[in-house]
Amino acid sequence: MSIETPLRVGTFQKDSRLPIEEVYRALEQLTHHGWEQQRIHVQEGKTGGGRKVVLPVYGYISPQWHENPGLWVLVGVHGEEPAPSNALAQHVRTLLMLAEAGIPILCTSILNPLGYIKKWRYPNELWNPDFGASVGDSEHVLLNEIESGPRTRKPISFDAECITVWALTQCVQHPPVLVFDHHEDEFSPEPDSPQARASYTYYHGEHGLVRIAEDVVDVLHANDMPIAQDGETAFGEKIIYGVVRNAVDGSVDELISAPRVFFRGGKIEKPAAKAVIIIETGFDPGVPHTLDQRVVAQGAVMNRYETYWNMMMHKILPSI
Ligand SMILES: [Zn+2]
Repeated sequence: MSIETPLRVGTFQKDSRLPIEEVYRALEQLTHHGWEQQRIHVQEGKTGGGRKVVLPVYGYISPQWHENPGLWVLVGVHGEEPAPSNALAQHVRTLLMLAEAGIPILCTSILNPLGYIKKWRYPNELWNPDFGASVGDSEHVLLNEIESGPRTRKPISFDAECITVWALTQCVQHPPVLVFDHHEDEFSPEPDSPQARASYTYYHGEHGLVRIAEDVVDVLHANDMPIAQDGETAFGEKIIYGVVRNAVDGSVDELISAPRVFFRGGKIEKPAAKAVIIIETGFDPGVPHTLDQRVVAQGAVMNRYETYWNMMMHKILPSI
């Protein structure tokens, strides 16, 4: 192993999330089975106790990935959402089995490890989106409405710049066709919001494949996750059958599903994923001890990756 795993950095523990070393260690098993480990980026910052810390962000690529597009799995963009990475750490065998069955796979370690160890949403900010710089922001390469240039002149942070460049490079080298970006959703304090006691799934991609996102909603519901079936989000987006389609949010998910982006001074064509599903397990921050169930729900979606892959390959019919 050429790249070292940091040890004993000290992880926020009150919600019983896994220490970050355990997540790193679990995913490192992939390299023992011939997966390539790429270092996407190294986050530098301070722990909750004020100690300086350096935390790597990795991508893992299954062996013998030649030209066919594959399945991508992203976790850990937001630090207060531990269930996705904790579930992935338990599903390394699932990933290995899928790769052995011939499905090319790319997955990441926790994309915002500094946020994870402190339970901060952003690397630089506990919660406030006005000050926080999301590591999953790609607005500086996403095209504006008239496709004349990028939406912003500069990346929101060095973290976001590194992750965006890596995702863009991988779109060419290991093109995605089906993508799962696992998140969580803290319930809104606004009593009238559809997010007050429930969450929904985001979807970017081809119309007919939204059926996969709808199945994800069913799986989350069956695993005791409350779902907002309809209504509008706080941003005025329509929720249909628990799914918000093609939201313009400037995220790396939008980047992965975009056919064109603005890069190094010009507009370029790139391989675009056909379906990107953003899974959200909702939780009330005032209710303790719900992480285990959220990990189960996230894992239940991971257990259906092969089904979703087959739905994609068999060109399922559009839902009504
Ligand atoms: Zn999130």
